[in-house]
Amino acid sequence: MSNTAPSVERTEALPGETRHQTGGNGHTAFVPVSQLEDLIQQRLRQERARLEREAGIEEATHTHFRRPEERPFTKAQRPHTTVLFGGLTWKHERILQGSIAGLGYKVMPLPNADKQSFQIGKEYGNNGQCNPTYFTVGNLVKYLQSLEGQGLAKQEIVDNYVYVTAGACGPCRFGMYEAEYRLALRNAGFDGFRVLLFQQGGGLDQAGLEAGLDLNIDFFIGMLNGMNFGDLLLDISDQIRPFEVKKGETDRVLRECVEYMHEVMKSRRPYKFEGKLADVAWAKTPGLANTVEFLGKFVRQLFSDHFVDGLRWCFERLNTIDVDYLRVKPICKVTGEFWAQTTESDGNFNMFPFLDREGAQIIREPVATWTSYLLNQAKNEARDRRGLKEGEAMPRWYELGKHAQRELDFVKKLTMLWLAGKIYNREYDRLRAALGNKPHALVNQLELLRVGHPYYNSRAEGGEGHLEVAKNIYYSNKDLCHMVLSLKPFGCMPSTQSDGAQSAVISHFKDMIYIPIETSGEGDVNAHSRVQMALGEAKVKAKNEFARVLQETGRTLDDIRAYVEAHPEMQRPAWNITHHKGVVGTAANFVKQVAALMDADAKGGRLRKLQKVAAMF
Ligand code: SF4
Repeated sequence: MSNTAPSVERTEALPGETRHQTGGNGHTAFVPVSQLEDLIQQRLRQERARLEREAGIEEATHTHFRRPEERPFTKAQRPHTTVLFGGLTWKHERILQGSIAGLGYKVMPLPNADKQSFQIGKEYGNNGQCNPTYFTVGNLVKYLQSLEGQGLAKQEIVDNYVYVTAGACGPCRFGMYEAEYRLALRNAGFDGFRVLLFQQGGGLDQAGLEAGLDLNIDFFIGMLNGMNFGDLLLDISDQIRPFEVKKGETDRVLRECVEYMHEVMKSRRPYKFEGKLADVAWAKTPGLANTVEFLGKFVRQLFSDHFVDGLRWCFERLNTIDVDYLRVKPICKVTGEFWAQTTESDGNFNMFPFLDREGAQIIREPVATWTSYLLNQAKNEARDRRGLKEGEAMPRWYELGKHAQRELDFVKKLTMLWLAGKIYNREYDRLRAALGNKPHALVNQLELLRVGHPYYNSRAEGGEGHLEVAKNIYYSNKDLCHMVLSLKPFGCMPSTQSDGAQSAVISHFKDMIYIPIETSGEGDVNAHSRVQMALGEAKVKAKNEFARVLQETGRTLDDIRAYVEAHPEMQRPAWNITHHKGVVGTAANFVKQVAALMDADAKGGRLRKLQKVAAMF
């Protein structure tokens, strides 16, 4: 008899066996412990079937959502197909629209998401999603419904529009966005509507995935440029708006600048390797010609002044705005989940205009930080996986050739990522310089990792990873803001994790003013009032700091103001205010700088008088 067969004759269990009830009559048998789980599951299934039979629902079938076979978007459809996209600010999107249109696409950003988008997202999407999913998915459905309202038939919409968005494999709900879009579209009656994805970690060339939308190097360079220009214009305008003398002037000029950059992007044609020599190369050695064209695109991006000149024009326009840097404003650094901290919509309770109305100076997070983060995480992953190859066993110690090859692969990968990071930062700095170096430089990712890792493991990815915690520490400790506001969507898994870590951060850095706000489709009044309270504290901090700095200079505010009035260049956005250690506010730093210039002038005056006296002898 096999030792796995149930036994009814014995009264004692053998080693590895247990007694098991075989039916409702109290009859028992011995079974191996290893089979017990299977038997329990079998009994559960039988019991469930019995209960379902009794309740009359035994016929119920469950149809799970499956990714539908999608119709391709082909090159031939390009002229009559509109590519929709969204999810950033209107400034980013307008400039990106120019960039994508310049590549020959009909393209349209979605209008801003609002509460109705959220309700539609809830109505047609899955339960238990995070806030950005509801807003963004609902916003697409809402837009398509509005097209229907304008008289377009559903089939026309499905045939003549596609939606493009970033994708990832998770680990948070971001990995499910594509499926969510498809499910909601199907539930809303737009079955067959095409959703195209580019992978955020997929590199600069994903061409061939969709023939209609060529995800090639031109597309990605255009995207990176568009996002950088949007970031930089937002950053500089946030530094001007709180100090503008004429209300609304910054936004008026900003609109002009965004339109201008839209045209600059649209007029740019992708670099092509052309000419007689190129014709020969394309005919004889297409591989080499392709490499030359690829490199040509990079070289032109890195050394051409086309975009830099566009931004210089914007800077000149912005520099016409009158500013008064003596206004005391609390600086509020806004962090949080990527979408919640970026959107200018109901999706974050319209937090940016609210902060502006309440008299705060805002520092937003540029999209570029996210790009740098991805590059840095890729470097970390390469280091962590050094010597490992997916699907292959480790070579034995004597297989030196294989070890050497793996080391070489590792060095090559790290060098490429390092180079990409250098090029990206150089490009960002070149564009900042065109805006008078006013926009903030990108924060060093290693520094963020260094301060954030002790509280939030930097290898725990998803959402903003360790960045939420790290930015809170970085901006507070470097005297860059009076308070940190973290916008965290409801249902956001990584943000919930970092909330736990933030408690430890706050208990270590007692002076920090940190306020997390959970964003949702409702509850604006409550959220605004909580921000108002924290802002009240930050205002007191900013005023006290200003009074202290003014006193330290030994000057009166009237003296300072008189000096500024005598120097019109100090009333222009191009004036660069020096940041002093231990001083956060713009007005306080400005006063310190002006006082130093006044002192230098006074010394210079005395020196000139002495020189005159000396010249008399
Ligand atoms: S980070 Fe949070 S809010 Fe954003 S997609 Fe992931 S789970 Fe949703």
